[in-house]
Amino acid sequence: MEINPFEVAKKQVNIVAKEMNLDPNLTEAVKRIERALIVTVPIIMDDGTLKIYEGYRVHHNTVRGPGKGGVRYAPDVNLDEVRALAMWMTWKTAILNLPLGGAKGGICVDPKQLSNKELEKLTRRYTSEIINFIGPDIDIPAPDMNTNSQTMAWMMDVYSMQKGRTISGVVTGKPIEIGGSVGRQGATGTGMFYVLNALCEKLNYNLKSMSVVIQGFGKVGSKISKKLYDFGCKILAISELEGGIYSEEGLNVNDIVEWNLQGNLLNDFKGSGTKSITNEELFKIKCDVLVPAATQNQITRNNAENIDCKIILEGANGPTTPKADKILNEKGIIVIPDILANSGGVCVSYFEYLQDIHAYFWKLERINKELKRIILEAFENVYNVSKERNISLRTAAYIISVSRVAKAIELRGIFP
Ligand code: NAD
Repeated sequence: MEINPFEVAKKQVNIVAKEMNLDPNLTEAVKRIERALIVTVPIIMDDGTLKIYEGYRVHHNTVRGPGKGGVRYAPDVNLDEVRALAMWMTWKTAILNLPLGGAKGGICVDPKQLSNKELEKLTRRYTSEIINFIGPDIDIPAPDMNTNSQTMAWMMDVYSMQKGRTISGVVTGKPIEIGGSVGRQGATGTGMFYVLNALCEKLNYNLKSMSVVIQGFGKVGSKISKKLYDFGCKILAISELEGGIYSEEGLNVNDIVEWNLQGNLLNDFKGSGTKSITNEELFKIKCDVLVPAATQNQITRNNAENIDCKIILEGANGPTTPKADKILNEKGIIVIPDILANSGGVCVSYFEYLQDIHAYFWKLERINKELKRIILEAFENVYNVSKERNISLRTAAYIISVSRVAKAIELRGIFP
């Protein structure tokens, strides 16, 4: 049966509301979606035919500040997926205590079937359709699955053209030449590395000697693979949608990045001692750290029992269902939850937004220093709450985030 991510997202709040004794009215309020827009995105394809796609932009909660969240292009994008992703963004900005809310967008499309010109038209028309929903003080989109800095450049251009002036702060994850930030491309991976390292220090594990398995080799998966490989970890396996590769003695990530850049499929890679594996097999490999960095609902009650690792570092949003979470907890596997683990991306997106609105740009050193400070402070808070209450890192993270959002709702009151 299909797992509905929005139901998962609401269930996660119910679990934590019970744990923290949250007022039932506030529990209901924090779960609600503020507004959701469904748009029709028609484009003339290169062969002259008309194709019509469906797009979404959802604001889950903007009580603490403008909405923030990516735009995803994938064939299975639907309203409930975007609602869940928007809600997870609310918790993510709250865990870092950024003055932002949670939003997300997407188009139900297989971008691999579109030419670059068609992708540009799709992005431009989508931006035009959601134009009143976004803006530097309303909601600031960013890249997500199958979108990138070029997508953001097109979005910024449409917005700026319609408003009659250049407004770089409308999106983040842009090319540096038009207001993007240094350090944004690798920010999610950098943040993941900081929190993993911090947890290993708490547990007296030597990260350098640990073995790692990674699902997903896109913007997030490739960066964390490289980061951990360069640090000295043994990368046992990596996969993408079409399958992956495994090597008992460890993969050479530099060669794989090169292979990937040439547009090759990961499971066609031939290295010494390397064999092809499926995504199902990937989750059965014994390792120290497992990194789901692909998409949601990958670790479910059907495969959680087979997982054999010490730590799960959630690069993807919503990769673990609540049922799987319970199984992992019982097995003693520590999960660094998505809203904390992959929050480095939104953190540097926030820096990019600040730089754009102040028209003053920072050096990489400052970006990484501030990112490290903010994410490690969030990690300490989460870790301490989890120890004090003897609960999982996820429940601890949710207690902190949900409390901040609930407090903001309480202070502002219900309009009118
Ligand atoms: P991406 O499109 O760059 O890469 C996605 C990767 O996952 C690709 O390698 C793809 O082949 C693989 N993949 C997709 N579906 C899969 C499946 N069912 N099984 C196995 N592999 C699959 O996307 P990304 O930006 O790297 O995002 C990956 C995840 O991280 C998403 O959940 C996203 O929401 C989350 N995330 C991204 C960022 C960011 O800064 N880009 C920040 C925080 C969280």
